[in-house]
Amino acid sequence: AKAAGRNVQMIFDPVMQARVALRNAQEEDLRLALERQHFVLHYQPQVDDTGTLTGFEALLRMQHPGKNVVMPDAFIGLAEETGLIVELGYWTLRTACEQLYQWSKLPATALLTVSVNVSARQFSDEALVERVLAIVQQSTIDPARLILELTESMMLDQVDSTVVKMRALRRSGIRFSLDDFGIGFSSLSYLKRLPLHEIKIDREFVNNITHDANDAVIVCAIIALAQGFGLSVIAEGVETVEQQVFLESRGCHRFQGYLFGRPVPLPLIDLSTLTPEKS
Ligand code: C2E
Ligand code: CA
Ligand code: CA
Ligand code: CA
Repeated sequence: AKAAGRNVQMIFDPVMQARVALRNAQEEDLRLALERQHFVLHYQPQVDDTGTLTGFEALLRMQHPGKNVVMPDAFIGLAEETGLIVELGYWTLRTACEQLYQWSKLPATALLTVSVNVSARQFSDEALVERVLAIVQQSTIDPARLILELTESMMLDQVDSTVVKMRALRRSGIRFSLDDFGIGFSSLSYLKRLPLHEIKIDREFVNNITHDANDAVIVCAIIALAQGFGLSVIAEGVETVEQQVFLESRGCHRFQGYLFGRPVPLPLIDLSTLTPEKS
């Protein structure tokens, strides 16, 4: 047994070492990217049931000069683990607010909103309220045009402090959306306690609504909950006209998804083309 154990170790160690080395390299890469601001935001349109653009969700990408764009799934997890997500989150918020300010100057885009994802780790930063308010003030945006997207994971053990911070930010006019609703740790009691403006239906449910009766039931229940609590509801991941029609018939009138537009780097956004792909 001992010999076998030693064998396993000999095989295992280099693999472990390679893993640790890879993780260290990735962490260093992330740290440098943050220092050098090798990140960009892509913006995905949100529309209402008349096809009118109401705002954008800002989605983070890593981009080293001359290299391919790196999607968030490849670095958000590590950013969370290392705590780098906190500074990255403030960079994202600042950048999105600067963009919002640019839109606010043009009549055609003055009323657009921007939705920014905030990770649990960042929301538990003690300086969160202070720093968010400072960024909003510096960018001179109307706070009512800013929507912070939170996930349920952050409520797990700190509902009270989360609510306190949300209330403080709400007082300035900033609004909150509960992202990925229905996934993970759903507890309906949060809906009662959180000062929310909006619930976002996760694309995992939207994906199958026209084919899977169970997902359809879940989506209908989420819409009913939102209505019952007087909250706005938006569906993400809407890819087909059938999905849009289904959602609309059940009372969801706001959409985000490839049907209306993919996330794009800003210079490519032509506002005149942002109408649904239906005829
Ligand atoms: P999320 O917040 O749920 O963002 C929605 C994701 O769905 C985005 O993926 C978006 O590109 C994708 N999506 C939108 N419409 C469709 C569709 O019709 N079909 C399909 N298949 N996908 C669609 P993305 O940009 O890769 O972001 C993935 C996740 O990374 C986000 O999920 C969010 O959890 C995280 N993330 C992105 N940006 C940030 C950020 O600035 N801060 C933090 N903390 N997390 C971020
Ligand atoms: Ca989101
Ligand atoms: Ca989401
Ligand atoms: Ca999601």
